[in-house]
Amino acid sequence: MNIKNFIKSAFKRIWRRQELPDEVVQGFMRVLDKVRKEDTTCKEVFDQLDEYVEKEVRGEDAALLMPLLREHLDICSDCCEEYEALLNVLQTAAKQ
Ligand SMILES: [Zn+2]
Repeated sequence: MNIKNFIKSAFKRIWRRQELPDEVVQGFMRVLDKVRKEDTTCKEVFDQLDEYVEKEVRGEDAALLMPLLREHLDICSDCCEEYEALLNVLQTAAKQ
């Protein structure tokens, strides 16, 4: 389930509203993104990124083991690019 659907269903449960306007959801998500970004900073992600990618390359469920990092990668394109580059390097190295 993506975060947008999660918010919508949470609102439905809590306030018993049928539909939540998209702009309300988006506004809420912006706040959430901001909080999350501040919670897990890019530097923290960067420090743990090699560990995360190593887990993935070894076939471990990195997203489950390091959920905050995974979340950050979903919302931060800078870190996501770093992640993909690193994953690419390690996967190539693992094949050799
Ligand atoms: Zn970041």
